Amino acid sequence: MAYSDEAAKLAELIEAAQPAVALTGAGISVPSGIPDFRSPGTGLWERVNPFEVAHIDAFRRDPRRFWQFYSQRFATLRDKKPNGAHYALAELERRGLLAGVITQNIDRLHSQAGSKEVVEVHGSIARCRCLACGLTVPLEEAIALIEGDPEGVPRCHRCNAPLKPDVVLFGELLPLAAFARAEALCEQAALCLCVGTSLEVHPVAGLPELTVAKGGKVAILTKGKTPLDDLAALKVEGDVEEVLKGVVAALGSSAARAD
Ligand code: ZN
Repeated sequence: MAYSDEAAKLAELIEAAQPAVALTGAGISVPSGIPDFRSPGTGLWERVNPFEVAHIDAFRRDPRRFWQFYSQRFATLRDKKPNGAHYALAELERRGLLAGVITQNIDRLHSQAGSKEVVEVHGSIARCRCLACGLTVPLEEAIALIEGDPEGVPRCHRCNAPLKPDVVLFGELLPLAAFARAEALCEQAALCLCVGTSLEVHPVAGLPELTVAKGGKVAILTKGKTPLDDLAALKVEGDVEEVLKGVVAALGSSAARAD
């Protein structure tokens, strides 16, 4: 496979700066047909204000209205498939070149692509949780509960409380254990590879700085400017899928040269 100079440079950096960790955002899932709600003109989020409707207060105040919206979110996400960028990161991990993937995405696509060490700092649609008793219910079961409830609210079978998607809603803190794991990965990394993230949402946006503080490097593969561009050893603006497939191809050929 042909690959670009940028992919070759990124491959070189990944090989030289080990261990490496990836930090991914909405941009890596755009080729899978999942719109980034921060970019204008994209579907579901165009018609509602996510900060209002996907807020923990909205869930507590009016679970019925919350689930009217969130069940659509489930419907748009449940059948999406990983793309070449997700598979490329899984392949890098398989080859021992990536210690893990920290993701802001809730779409489960890294795990579906075969990545093993996945830290979902904003949670995942894989489960719903009862805030009253802690019961968790897998996605498909939650969808059946939504479909079977006259109000469209999935309820805990133990205490009848409305279930909440196990994702971080606006107004909620990040899951402590996941974020601590993300911090540890970034502190230990010689390279933090940021993919498809505008690095604007804190505290996740501060993670690459932990790598730099410990003497590591940052590479950024995303469209548009980010606040960390000046800090980055390499900034690539190309298509995430194309570039990461190119990285895998470039690494393959450099290994062949070494034989
Ligand atoms: Zn319960």
